[in-house]
Amino acid sequence: MPSFPLLFDLGSAKPTTRDIAQTVRIGGTAALTEAERRADHARYQEITCRSALNHVKGMPFEWTLNPYRGCTHGCHYCYARRYHAQFEMNADDEFASVILVKKNFVDVLARELKRPSWNGDYVAVGTATDCYQPIEGHYKLTRRAIEALLRHRNPIGIVTKGPMVVRDTDLLVALGKITTCTVYMSVPTVDEHAWELLEPGTAHPLQRLRAVRELVDAGVNAGVLMNPIVPGFSSSRAKLERTVKAIADHGAKFVGCNVMFLEDGTRAHFMKFLEREFPSWLPRYEKLYEKKYAPEEYRKQVQGMIRVLQNRYGLTPREREPHKEETFEPEQVAFAW
Ligand code: SF4
Repeated sequence: MPSFPLLFDLGSAKPTTRDIAQTVRIGGTAALTEAERRADHARYQEITCRSALNHVKGMPFEWTLNPYRGCTHGCHYCYARRYHAQFEMNADDEFASVILVKKNFVDVLARELKRPSWNGDYVAVGTATDCYQPIEGHYKLTRRAIEALLRHRNPIGIVTKGPMVVRDTDLLVALGKITTCTVYMSVPTVDEHAWELLEPGTAHPLQRLRAVRELVDAGVNAGVLMNPIVPGFSSSRAKLERTVKAIADHGAKFVGCNVMFLEDGTRAHFMKFLEREFPSWLPRYEKLYEKKYAPEEYRKQVQGMIRVLQNRYGLTPREREPHKEETFEPEQVAFAW
């Protein structure tokens, strides 16, 4: 008799996130016996979702779409790390190595978009995962979700670090002709050392910028978010300037930035990373991050620097989602360290 029969008794149906959480609570991620290990050494667990469109509060948008949970890009600062606790998994290795795949995501989304109660609100795609992480090449959930959104002429914004987004240029161009369709490519820094340290599973920053160039040339409204600026790693004036210049050189339509914030599991993970790799930095970090955000004064200083650089290189500030005020993650960038 299997130790965790739930995953086997569902026949062809996939477990829900609740089933996954229950299974992991009892037996750890080793109990996910159906999870498929792939060449990237991550394990992929197919699941059934009950809803696709997710209503959120306190953000500059009200609806999000995340076809996967967890992310093999494994950025150490990733704020989505803490969400893995919802599945009884940790914000450390399991966030980047146990990926939940919402197998029925597109069918559920198609049903939700057809509901008379759906108003066609702006939807932010990829807020708790990277919707173009490598496994998207296999499942194509993001592409098929955009196809559904296009059929409904639904406005979207996509946040990603995945150059694979250029694969869907045809859909993004078509959607952009009839409604808001913006790609926010995340490139916190072009500094190779900081990239290697902080974003171990991501494409090279210049590869991401080339994807922006390709999207813009095709007519997609694409820009860059330097999110997050990580004090001490990517915050020097020289690194900021090199990054802003590279963004401008690649034709980005806009640039935005935030200084890293830390909370819950993400905070614990990042501090452990520092303790392991840069122990001498810990005291400064503990002071700078006594709270979730770095001090306002620091953030303002950085904002000012970025504004100067934006002007110098002829970039416009990041676009806001339609009709929304910024209500979270105050604009920040750091250069004092
Ligand atoms: S790519 Fe985005 S979602 Fe993935 S780990 Fe990095 S910050 Fe998190």
